[in-house]
Amino acid sequence: MFRCKNCLNASTRPRIIFNKDNICNACLWSEEKKNLNWNEREKKLIELVKTIKKKKTYSEFDCIVPVSGGKDGSYVAHNLKYKYGLNVLCVTVNPPMQLSLGKKNLEKFKKTGFDLISIDVEPNILRKIDKQGFIDDGQGYYGWMVLIHTAVIKLAQKFKIKYIFYSEDGEVEYGGSDEKKNKQFYNIDYMKKVYLNDKLEKILKKSNLEQSKLNWFTFDEKIKINFTHYSFYENWDPYRNYLYAKKHCGLEDLSEGNIGTFTNFAQNDQVLASFHYYLMYLKFGFGRATQDAGIEIRRGAMTRDQALNLVRLYDGVSPEVHFNEIAEYYEISIDNLWKIIKKHTNRTLFEINKNKIRPKFVIE
Ligand SMILES: [Zn+2]
Repeated sequence: MFRCKNCLNASTRPRIIFNKDNICNACLWSEEKKNLNWNEREKKLIELVKTIKKKKTYSEFDCIVPVSGGKDGSYVAHNLKYKYGLNVLCVTVNPPMQLSLGKKNLEKFKKTGFDLISIDVEPNILRKIDKQGFIDDGQGYYGWMVLIHTAVIKLAQKFKIKYIFYSEDGEVEYGGSDEKKNKQFYNIDYMKKVYLNDKLEKILKKSNLEQSKLNWFTFDEKIKINFTHYSFYENWDPYRNYLYAKKHCGLEDLSEGNIGTFTNFAQNDQVLASFHYYLMYLKFGFGRATQDAGIEIRRGAMTRDQALNLVRLYDGVSPEVHFNEIAEYYEISIDNLWKIIKKHTNRTLFEINKNKIRPKFVIE
């Protein structure tokens, strides 16, 4: 494993690309963005808005924006509605073990002028799929992650809405496949491959649920939906989104920090988020602090040395305080929870001694 010479992104990150000087594609993209013709990109958005608005025979929503009450979805929905005039339908999928701050932020966001459909999947069904994803793929909230795509698509189909705006293309912005860097839309195959790790069918099958229970997890693949990322049209800046959402959408921060990182303004709506990032750390050797520090370095707000200190301090911090609660959620014993965590721990990168997991690598 090696790290990006600029931002600390690890070579173990799925699909990431490095140039010959070991600079990752997120850093190369952040340089490229400075000289990109963003006016051209915005024109594409304006054209798209026109296309969407055409041929309406009765009143219907123009597009869906998935939101969680966090900074990014709020930023996108707010801009699409108030700057570009789209009739936006917001959709949220309630996570298991939701934190009250997430709910509160969503309430405030809604009051800034949005229709919101809030999806609650039968808890036992979601639990089983989350658990299967944890066992098979080492994902803390696989079921919920799937729903952000499948349940949203299902609603789009029911309402005959052809466009879904997701926030940023994480592959391009934070490191991964750069094949969609200059592409406005992506399709279902790409979504399944990159966002669901191509494991959806297998995990659904292994979760042993009847087909009739999988309503929100399946959809008609023949109906065409256009998926697009807002980050295609505008120079994506999570920190700007945060300031914007605070000012315009009522966003509030956590009073204390998130586990495993030094920020308190992202993904603070559910207990399983810190577990998800901890598992990522054990699988790939980098955690949430690496990701957050990368964003700060690329926007020029932090040096690599400052980032190194923070990443060394925060990256591997385990959300162990929540382990009882998490085991209870999966309906497994704490011993079993540990067993599965260890099964997914990369032995080349970590040494395990009882319930202590230590990195063999140095962060540099
Ligand atoms: Zn980098």
